[in-house]
Amino acid sequence: MDLHIATRCSCMEEDDALLELEKTLTNEEKKTLRFVRAYANKRGFLLQPDLEVLRTVIKGMTENRLRFGKPYCPCRLRTGNEEEDRKIVCPCVYHEEEIERDGQCHCMLYLKG
Ligand code: SF4
Repeated sequence: MDLHIATRCSCMEEDDALLELEKTLTNEEKKTLRFVRAYANKRGFLLQPDLEVLRTVIKGMTENRLRFGKPYCPCRLRTGNEEEDRKIVCPCVYHEEEIERDGQCHCMLYLKG
């Protein structure tokens, strides 16, 4: 089954690129892409435009969700302490400060809009 990704972005190029990316993802990865895209739209962030970087982050986050039950940040180490690791469930507690300071989150998934 092909999951539809809701499109709220007005940028046709970005829409086209994401549709191309979507075709290469598993259904679970599509769910992750849909989630991060909705969050980016809601918060006025941009998604990483380099599709290979975006694919890598989506895959890592999906793997963590399937393996550990939550979409842990694929760019940070889990400690094994549930309370501590809650901070790095995407979107992590650090991303707003990172985006404000560096223009992007640590994984380069969300960029300043
Ligand atoms: S660094 Fe970015 S991708 Fe990683 S958890 Fe934080 S918001 Fe998500």
